[in-house]
Amino acid sequence: MVQCEYTTICAFFNGGMADRPAIANVMKKRYCARNPPACARYMVLKTFGKDRVPVDLVPNDVDLAKNIIAEG
Ligand code: SF4
Repeated sequence: MVQCEYTTICAFFNGGMADRPAIANVMKKRYCARNPPACARYMVLKTFGKDRVPVDLVPNDVDLAKNIIAEG
């Protein structure tokens, strides 16, 4: 288990997808608890800091994360 270092500041981890808790829990297990570097939010956070992470960016939207990072 490699718990993400950003759980205290991450909007997704703290109430994201509240309307779809089952999916949110699956993502928390897949990304937050097991593989943070694969998370779209983590990628942007690690690169630019939390102010650049769209509040609604979901962990599996890696394409959007890559676009944000590529745009600089
Ligand atoms: S959603 Fe991503 S950045 Fe947020 S706590 Fe989980 S792994 Fe970390």
